[in-house]
Amino acid sequence: MNVIMKFGGTSVADAEAMTRVINIVRQQLAANPTDRPPVVVVSAMSKVTDRLVETGRLAGERQGDEAAKLLSDLCARHITVASGLVSGGALEGLKRRLAEDFDALTAHVRGWARDGDVSPRATDELLAMGELASSRMVAAAFAEQKIPSAWVDSRQVLVTDDEHTAAVPDMDATCAKTQQIVGARLGAGEIPVMGGFIGATVTGVTTTLGRGGSDYSAAIFGACLDVDEIQIWTDVDGMLTADPRVVADPRLVPQLSFAEASELAYFGAKVLHPSTILPAVARNIPVRILNSRRPEVKGTMITAEGRGDAGALTALACKRGVTVIDITSTRMLMAFGFLRRLFEVFERFKTPVDVVTTSEVSVSVTVDNTRRLDDILSNLRNFAEVNVEPDMAIVCVVGENLRSDAALFGRAVTSLERIPLRLVSQAASRRNITFVMRDPDVPQAMARLHDAFFARVTR
Ligand code: ASP
Ligand code: MG
Repeated sequence: MNVIMKFGGTSVADAEAMTRVINIVRQQLAANPTDRPPVVVVSAMSKVTDRLVETGRLAGERQGDEAAKLLSDLCARHITVASGLVSGGALEGLKRRLAEDFDALTAHVRGWARDGDVSPRATDELLAMGELASSRMVAAAFAEQKIPSAWVDSRQVLVTDDEHTAAVPDMDATCAKTQQIVGARLGAGEIPVMGGFIGATVTGVTTTLGRGGSDYSAAIFGACLDVDEIQIWTDVDGMLTADPRVVADPRLVPQLSFAEASELAYFGAKVLHPSTILPAVARNIPVRILNSRRPEVKGTMITAEGRGDAGALTALACKRGVTVIDITSTRMLMAFGFLRRLFEVFERFKTPVDVVTTSEVSVSVTVDNTRRLDDILSNLRNFAEVNVEPDMAIVCVVGENLRSDAALFGRAVTSLERIPLRLVSQAASRRNITFVMRDPDVPQAMARLHDAFFARVTR
């Protein structure tokens, strides 16, 4: 099986974590001796990108010394970690390389601080340091272990436009370079080790894909190489059937569809942002979330289609502290144009609406951003009666099987018996059912739904 293995910041946080990475990759090699080697993509060591952002902020405020101090601390941290991974001449070479790169960057940062101006282009040069350093270190650690590998500069492979800090990849150009440069290393039997998140314009100016962009890099390279699986190694076991802060004993979701993952991400499931893996999903490449501290756990597989067991739901999600607004047409029946007028008010005050339900004479919506609520209400009252209920919540059941198995809807509603449901809606996708209820009822509602659909099989 040909794979891409992407390791996030916590999976490369220190020498111990990087050693776990080496062992996980070694396992992968041992289990697939006849396949081509995996491609390894890494994030910056954990918190490094945040510190670099902070460095840029200080430079923008003309605090050159403070910015330089942050960089020298970061350099020291990298050198300490390097010393725990590599030895002898290789260590000396790596230390020199890191020191030179950090020194060059520090000189630039001091210049930006003098002007009090850090452009988006400068920001990208600064942020790229995290992934450049971590990928060099991991590559050196492989070499130290005598595992055939090669550091590949992602800036020579991932071609983007010049929208600095949120650059958009040029897939055709990137795929051509990936097949050529990364392909050559694979052909030579070496593990290419690359930084995620970073790329460059056609003229070679460093860019970044936006925060959290390493998953995106992995999906892009995986799509270009047409791998069999993209592995996202992180510090949790995978997606859970419910938020562990709300439900006592959530289970691991073994497999879900891309659309289900998107629904859950909307409700704050933070494991990975589905849009970042779109290049992989579009080419039908499964993406697996795995825990680098517990590599034996099977993790969660995201595929285009998903495949839940018959009669099963995929997961629950909730969004707490929302406000319900009931809007009743003062003309008793909903005249045409009523909905348009109503939604225009929300648009004018830039307030997204989450759940919408309608009846013959009224519309109910939920919002979680109440910053402009007073303006919204006074505008709505020009043409409608309005009632507001704060302290509500949305509970959402997600599952592709809701489309084919009508009984699931009934089971969900039944399990919520005697909990007052304010609104119920099922979107056209029929991939989820949304319940709006009083916020204090959420723990009980989630527990009952979880018991009904995800009870552990006891033998
Ligand atoms: N290091 C970058 C960030 O923290 C990219 C990533 O880790 O995905 O945003
Ligand atoms: Mg990440």
